Amino acid sequence: MFWPKLTSGEIKKRVMDALKKNVDYRKTPILGIPATYLDAEVFYDDAPFLENAPFLSTLIANPNHIGCHTLGGSEKIFKGTQELERELVNLCAEQIFECEPGMQDGYIASGGTEANIEALWIYRNYFRNRYQADTREIAVIYSEDSHYSLSKGVNLLNISSIVIRVDEDNRQLLLTDLEEKLERALAEGIHYFIVNMNLSTTMFGSVDDIDKVTGLLNRKNITYKLHVDAAFGGFIYPFANPGSSYTFKNPHITSFTIDAHKMLQTPYGTGIFLIRKEYMQHVRTAEAQYVPGTDHTLCGSRSGANAVAVWMVLHNHGSQGWKTKMQALVDRTTDVCSQLDALDIRYYRNPNINIIAIRAEDIPVHLAEKYFLVADSYERKPQWWKIVKMPHITRGTIDLFMNDLQAEIRVNK
Ligand SMILES: *Cc1c(COP(=O)(O)O)cnc(C)c1O
Repeated sequence: MFWPKLTSGEIKKRVMDALKKNVDYRKTPILGIPATYLDAEVFYDDAPFLENAPFLSTLIANPNHIGCHTLGGSEKIFKGTQELERELVNLCAEQIFECEPGMQDGYIASGGTEANIEALWIYRNYFRNRYQADTREIAVIYSEDSHYSLSKGVNLLNISSIVIRVDEDNRQLLLTDLEEKLERALAEGIHYFIVNMNLSTTMFGSVDDIDKVTGLLNRKNITYKLHVDAAFGGFIYPFANPGSSYTFKNPHITSFTIDAHKMLQTPYGTGIFLIRKEYMQHVRTAEAQYVPGTDHTLCGSRSGANAVAVWMVLHNHGSQGWKTKMQALVDRTTDVCSQLDALDIRYYRNPNINIIAIRAEDIPVHLAEKYFLVADSYERKPQWWKIVKMPHITRGTIDLFMNDLQAEIRVNK
């Protein structure tokens, strides 16, 4: 895994050069595009600081990255910043998820939700196109700890879902439940499966055992396409655990969702969708005739500034810098776990992820609320409260929390 760390001067130059390759609404006669720079009274473009602010300059220039730019034909007006997006998609696919060079497509989606739904949409159409499958013959398989965007997708796409139970303690998919539900689905006439594996669930940070699941599916000769929801873990897990089965080297994986707006600290609107070549075509909207190259995405118009922001953060750190930063977060999370151990507090944690889910019985509600821990459910009595060790959490804050917790336990003993 390697990409270079650039100086802020180098980053600025690359972005400003990309902007120069876009057509400037102020300098070129553009008569037909229903787009322009941001409102010039509110977002004036001659503010002196903009010269040194490549992201804000891009935001104000307002390039529209509509469509997918890894497939060839795209809107020529914004080719400079589209090129940075393409470079970013390739970097994520090739350097983080070990794809063969140039063998992937992808785009910067509004978030993990959109990227997950894009995947379901592609595979639903793939099964229809390739096998003449009826929609009723297609189902999505995912664990009960999966993100709710999968339920949204299933609902929108009118396909059925098969939700697999997990072990209460280790949060792993119950393979017996998977096998049983597969048998039932096959008996009911479902023949095509879209499988979602979590490269960390949102609530627990648990990582589905992909080898066990694909082992079972292959043994049973199941026809499936597998998507990895790495919205949470995509920018941390591969750095903390190199050599896992969660890469494009694994032939069973076809696509990934990764959210830059979680671990990478980029603005909202930076979900990343990555997929092997030859699949995006299944969601080509041919009716998008006024868009050069037509459209293969769910969202339509989207800001090119989002791709630029992610590109900038990755190059500000370089692969080595990012690895060090993620390793530190994971180590700090381990420190917190050791302190919980000393207090006999029960929790779930994956050692390569920065989430700790604490058993609700082991923590007083008022402390969970004081420190804004997040519950597994606000609709029923919480069973878990989670800590997510994000970069803003200092050692001092952890100390305060631990002191409070310790005092509470002493009183109750
Ligand atoms: C956050 C998250 C999502 C959804 O991402 P949004 O960016 O909020 O749309 C999907 N899956 C997982 C595992 C997540 O953690």
